[in-house]
Amino acid sequence: MNKALRPRWILPGLAIVLLSLSACQSEEVLSRQSFVFGTLVEVKIRTSDRDQAIDAINTLFSRFDKLHSNWHAWKPGAMTDTSAKLSQGEWFTPAASITPVLEYSQQLYRDSRGLFNPAMGRLVALWGFHADTLPDKPPEKSAIDSILLDLPGMDDIEFNNGRVRGHHPHIVIDAGGMAKGYAVNMGIELLRRHGISNALLNAGGDLCGIGSRGDRAWRVGIRHPNRQGVLASIDLSDGECVFTSGDYERGYDYENHHYHHIIDPRTGYPADGAVSVTVLHPNGALADAASTALLVAGVDGWQEIAESMNIDKVLLVDHQGRLHMTAGMQKRVVIRDNPPQEIIIAPQI
Ligand code: AMP
Ligand code: MG
Repeated sequence: MNKALRPRWILPGLAIVLLSLSACQSEEVLSRQSFVFGTLVEVKIRTSDRDQAIDAINTLFSRFDKLHSNWHAWKPGAMTDTSAKLSQGEWFTPAASITPVLEYSQQLYRDSRGLFNPAMGRLVALWGFHADTLPDKPPEKSAIDSILLDLPGMDDIEFNNGRVRGHHPHIVIDAGGMAKGYAVNMGIELLRRHGISNALLNAGGDLCGIGSRGDRAWRVGIRHPNRQGVLASIDLSDGECVFTSGDYERGYDYENHHYHHIIDPRTGYPADGAVSVTVLHPNGALADAASTALLVAGVDGWQEIAESMNIDKVLLVDHQGRLHMTAGMQKRVVIRDNPPQEIIIAPQI
């Protein structure tokens, strides 16, 4: 046998053995949880390469921990530093993880016609939501009115080549209305970079999925806003995200009234035009911001804002328990409510 030919035979032979070994490894769904962004974050990965998946999960959660402290609205960190400097009105360069969030927030602020307004953290704080423990009564009307008289907006921030400057003395950035969505987008990108193509990344019921669970699509439940249980379910296509905002998530009761954490910048009070809004979209940050903005817009205004934010898959639950949805959402959602509520399909979107 010609010795010079040997390596050519050995290499393909070796490749076949390795290939068949990996084909033999069975697939499993690995799942890990961590408490971050004020909620339980769970990642599920369908994989035949356990080591690769564990490596991806570890990187993901350490990235999320950093983002959580960088973006926190009231605990000292990169975002609180940014808010303080924006209030001073000088040009500065924020931490690297902040500027893209600010820039995108400004676009979302404009697209939502100001209903999504992360610059009004001072108002959210006045309501007591910039604290781990919530107050037992709402603020005085006079205090709300005095902030509303000159409410900062994202247009009070100017951008120039990575530098930013504020034009309002009271800007406090609260990215809580879309930080989870932005982070889940980044998390999905990170998983893909680690070679993961089938995963579900769930931040307290707000989630994005890639690939499938194997035998079927990733199926997600939308929580019933008025009682325990599931209102509806959606089978996710590759790369889709589902985000819900609800008046039941964070809040306190005072004199038989519930005061929740999503504030209407037009009134200064918690939004009262809808109970919950769910948005389905491939961009988690957009879905997150839009669900917050549409909850503020309420049952009378949501269609106009959905159109201006370019969102076509929306489910809104109103205070009578009726379900309002776009035709695009109707095609995707399976209602599991029993007995089923009245369903109203939006005529235009
Ligand atoms: P979400 O659960 O995504 O609807 O976000 C709610 C969080 O967004 C609140 O806890 C506040 O931190 C912040 N927020 C409240 N009202 C608004 C608003 N109108 N626009 C932007 N962010 C808001
Ligand atoms: Mg949101």
